[in-house]
Amino acid sequence: MAAPSSQSPLLSFEDARRVVEEHAALVAPSANETVDLLHSAGRILAEPLAADRDIPPFPRSTRDGYAVRATDLAKLPAKLTVIGEIKAGPPPGKVLTLNRGEAFSIMTGAPIPPGADAVVMIEYTSLQNDCVEITKTVAPGENIVAQGAEAKRGSLVLDRGMRLNEAAIALAASVGKSRLQVFVRPRVAVLTTGDEIVDVDAEIGPTQIRNSNSYSLAAQVQEAGGEPVLLPVAPDESRRLRELIEQGLQADLLLMTGGVSMGRYDLVEQVLAEMQAEFFFTGAKIQPGRPVVFGRIPCSCGAGAPAPAREVFAPVPHKYFFGLPGNPVSTMVTFELFARPVIEALSGMSPRPLVFLHARLKSEIRIKPGLKRFLPAILSGQYEDSQVELVSWQGSGDIAARSRSNCLVVIPPDREHILAGEWIAVMLR
Ligand code: AMP
Ligand code: MG
Repeated sequence: MAAPSSQSPLLSFEDARRVVEEHAALVAPSANETVDLLHSAGRILAEPLAADRDIPPFPRSTRDGYAVRATDLAKLPAKLTVIGEIKAGPPPGKVLTLNRGEAFSIMTGAPIPPGADAVVMIEYTSLQNDCVEITKTVAPGENIVAQGAEAKRGSLVLDRGMRLNEAAIALAASVGKSRLQVFVRPRVAVLTTGDEIVDVDAEIGPTQIRNSNSYSLAAQVQEAGGEPVLLPVAPDESRRLRELIEQGLQADLLLMTGGVSMGRYDLVEQVLAEMQAEFFFTGAKIQPGRPVVFGRIPCSCGAGAPAPAREVFAPVPHKYFFGLPGNPVSTMVTFELFARPVIEALSGMSPRPLVFLHARLKSEIRIKPGLKRFLPAILSGQYEDSQVELVSWQGSGDIAARSRSNCLVVIPPDREHILAGEWIAVMLR
């Protein structure tokens, strides 16, 4: 039997994260599909989108007011003859040219007429019969967006790998795309282990524990852009565990929970080693989640028959797996820190750095140094006045404490005492 822990050390958080990011850069989605724009939210764009015309397609007024020649306003107040009105979306036809001494009444979003080079906002004007009196000068270009200033016709407006949020969807709509090519969601197998673990609906004995990790992971997988595939609970018994791992390797990624600590019945690493797995790390200097495992396994398994009407890419030589610690909060935290970037990469999303925000600490923290901590906390305050405070918890099994929290406070391994009022890193999860 291979001994994974001798070749795959306990890494610092940053090293473990870097290893994951390096491997995430090697994976790719398996196929494309087409979706309606209305159902594209959260999906990953698989085609580059170009502007089908200049944006804006004409010089556009950004204000209600008067389209003028800026040089006509050298002396104030200036009186100009109003020669007409331009609404947004005027019928195509003969557009009058603005001459010296003239103004057009113009609405927000309307095209600037030839000859005009600025718009005076309505609050600096007063209308008297056919004339408008203007009390403020304007610089050329003021209150106008030039044709093509936001994007030139044919230029790239959205690239593949972009997660479709509301702004990207609006941009796709504005370049005339009602259907989009997106990447197929990766299938992520979730395998929970432990003799004590029973299904949510099953009758439960006094020392048994309901399976919560499969459900929290399914939610996280979905949110990260994957499609969770829940496997039956594996007992702490090698043969059945191996069978279920083999099933899990049919998916694009395998997430296991439990069975990765140092206990006599923690069999996950041993079984994976027997299957010729390569381990990149078998622990990270973090809390919660220290025994987290990341590796890959040579792939003899076919990816399954692809559905028709999809562009299917080349098969992969190996499958990645994570062994996440079984304690429920450790499972959730290690998913966020390590599994999420791999799922995002498998879903075709361009890599993005993990960044923490900062908030002021409400009450001091004293803690043993040595591990990077990701502790459940409550972010409160309002607007610019953010404050954060740890929730009291019973350790990494305490789901109730985690569900009362709305973020994780991030404490570097060299800090023992952090004072109230200090700025502290926060992970918004
Ligand atoms: P393990 O990592 O297998 O040593 O498990 C650590 C702790 O997490 C034990 O108290 C387990 O009962 C608990 N645990 C493991 N898997 C699950 C699960 N799927 N749902 C809830 N608790 C779990
Ligand atoms: Mg266990």
